[in-house]
Amino acid sequence: MSDFVLRAQNVSAGYGDFQALFSVDFHVSSGEVVALIGANGAGKSTFLKTLARTLPLREGTVEFDGASTVGIAPHQLVGAGLVMVPEGRRLFVGMSVEDNLRVALDRARAISAGARPWTLERLYSLFPILKEKRHQSVERLSGGQQQMVAVGRALMAQPKLLLCDEISLGLAPKVIKEIYDLLPEIRDAGTAVVLVEQDVSLAQKTADRLYCMLEGRIKLTGRSSEISRDEIAAAYFGALHDVG
Ligand code: ATP
Repeated sequence: MSDFVLRAQNVSAGYGDFQALFSVDFHVSSGEVVALIGANGAGKSTFLKTLARTLPLREGTVEFDGASTVGIAPHQLVGAGLVMVPEGRRLFVGMSVEDNLRVALDRARAISAGARPWTLERLYSLFPILKEKRHQSVERLSGGQQQMVAVGRALMAQPKLLLCDEISLGLAPKVIKEIYDLLPEIRDAGTAVVLVEQDVSLAQKTADRLYCMLEGRIKLTGRSSEISRDEIAAAYFGALHDVG
């Protein structure tokens, strides 16, 4: 038996007549942090949406936790432990920090309360500022604090795999570091992580493995520590970059 938490093979997907993904092979093992990098429009968000089944798979297979995801509704996948932190956070405005976090507990009903790795107490020890602001309405928080709520809400759904779509977007470097520094603790709690990240250095520093996507295809993959910056640049920008 493999220790893949997720395995995608030969995945194609798109929008109407436009094909955005071409034969993508990708896997995440238990306990891994994997980064997906690539230029704007490379297909990273499309791929995450395909994994979360909010966009239909046109070809290929996706297995999560040992079972095919075909025919499984997105909310059922969340219940099974495949949880996305979407680009743009999508918090419930007008609701407090704590109510935003509690909403996700509904999605974790299948797991008995005693068996849940993520509790409000644990989240508050991960993000102490959220404990301080737990009764505040989320729109009164800074961008970084809102992103912490978005990550926290996803964790409260008790994910086996967390898909993070550009969680650093628009945040100050200090705040980005604060959030990224917590990833090892999230991983150690048994949650594998896929990061879509524009900042290549940050992705390489944080992730165990990298995938680099160009125009809907995986151009490069390997252990972060074994891939050179030149290899990444060539895969990121394509053949034109190599000329000269
Ligand atoms: P970014 O970093 O800009 O978010 P990305 O790598 O996540 O880039 P996607 O957003 O997945 O890229 O886009 C991949 C391709 O699919 C692009 O050509 C984009 O224009 C197209 N695309 C994305 N969303 C839609 C949509 N809803 N309808 C039509 N085309 C789309």
